[in-house]
Formats: sequence, C-alpha cells, structure tokens
Amino acid sequence: MLRIDIVTIFPEMFKGPFDVSILKKAQDKGLVEIKVYNLRDFTEDKHRTVDDYPYGGGSGMVMKPEPIFKAVRSLKKENSEVILLSPSGDLFNQKIAEELSKKNHLILICGRYEGVDERVKSIITREISIGDYVLTGGEIPAMVIVDAVVRLVPGVLGDPDSLREESFQWGILEYPQYTHPRDFEGMKVPDILLSGNHERIRRWRRKEALKKTFLKRPDLLEKTSLTQEDLELLEEIKKELREEV
Ligand code: SAM
Repeated sequence: MLRIDIVTIFPEMFKGPFDVSILKKAQDKGLVEIKVYNLRDFTEDKHRTVDDYPYGGGSGMVMKPEPIFKAVRSLKKENSEVILLSPSGDLFNQKIAEELSKKNHLILICGRYEGVDERVKSIITREISIGDYVLTGGEIPAMVIVDAVVRLVPGVLGDPDSLREESFQWGILEYPQYTHPRDFEGMKVPDILLSGNHERIRRWRRKEALKKTFLKRPDLLEKTSLTQEDLELLEEIKKELREEV
C-alpha cells in the first residue's frame, strides 16, 4: 500500500479533489492512504508561527525550518521519499510519476510565501516542480503529483490496458480517440476504425500517435526508443506531409 502524507498550512484545500472518482476509490479499496497534516500543528509557539522575515532583507516572508523539520521527523519512516514542491525542482513528468508510484511512502511538503528556508533542503530527498511558472503555493502541485501517481498504483485503474496506451506511457502522445456517433455534424469517424481489422487499426493508431508527436512534441521522439516499424511509419508521415504542401 502506498501512503502519502501531505504537509500544508491549508489542509482544507485538499477536501474536494481526493474525495471523488478514482482517488476516492483507490483509498476506499485500501490501495493508497492519503493524509493531510496542518503544518501549524508542528509549531510550538502560541501563535503557531510558520513564517518569518528573510535574513538580508527583501520582500515577503520565508517558511521557518523548525515546523517543517518537526513534521518530517515525526512522519518519516525508513525509505520515505520526502518531496519539497518548488519551482526550482526537477520538472515533473510521467517517468517521475512511475518512480513515485513504486514507493511505499511519500511526504509532500507544500511551500507558501516566498518559499522555505534553504536548510529544509537537508531533510528532503527530492525537489519537484510541476512547470516553469510560479504558483502561490505547493498545494496544487501536490494534488497534481498525487493524481498522476495514484492512478499508476497497480489495481487503481479498472482496465490496466488504458495505462499502456495513453500519452507518455510509451514516450509518445496518444492516438486520436472516437466514440459514437459515427457522424457528428459532418465530422466522420475514420473508416479504418470500423473495419474490424485489428492489425490495420493498430498500425493506423501507431502512425497517428507518431504523427501527432512529430507535429506537436518532436522532442519526445528524440528521447524515446523507436522500433523499425516506427521509423518506417515516420518516413511515410514525413513523405505525406511534404506532399501536402
Ligand atoms: N520565491 C519562490 C521562487 O521564486 O522560487 C516562489 C515561491 S511560491 C510563491 C510559493 C510556493 O509555491 C513554493 O515554495 C512552492 O512550494 C510552490 N510552488 C510555486 N510554483 C511551483 C511550481 N511550479 N512547482 C511546484 N511548486 C510550486
């Protein structure tokens, strides 16, 4: 079972997202346990202070190290992954989500204000950013990470095949999906998907996935390992695109 502990000064923010759909079912099935802790419960002063002025001056407040150390020390077990959400962290992606889904215990520390005292870095095992932009706090990044990680925990998704085929799982973007109706306002489902020929459908989907990736995220193609068939399909795609212009 994966246990996730989240440390935040706004525990109430987590009420909705974890109480519906797949995240709720995963907890109900006992596949994951998610607990949210108020950082102020780890303070020792009457005002439950979690922030203070920065040494050296400057605007804004900085999160004090003591409550964070106390929280981590009381929650940490052997092999816990202690993650600080931070715009300076490793850029979160599907590979990191997979790595985290294999752990037993994650502690997510949500920053606020101008961030955390630098000495907090000495008790974390990993720093993660969810993108090159600055949010007001680490709570939404923590939700993003929990969502991406929990759905990878074995047993959480009803149909494990859906994981195998979706975007990024194979290093490229997913092929286009269609459902009923067959003709929607003149936009038709490609005939091949109605052909019943599984091999042709498989090849078409792979080609469409490669084409989408080639056009939208060519950087992904450089990082993934392509089969001989993929290389042939890519040649076909490039030829077709050249002919289109
Ligand atoms: N002064 C900090 C800086 O420039 O890096 C920004 C602090 S931000 C206003 C407050 C907190 O929000 C951060 O400590 C972090 O926990 C969280 N945060 C903001 N943007 C984030 C991002 N892109 N990824 C992960 N966490 C983020």
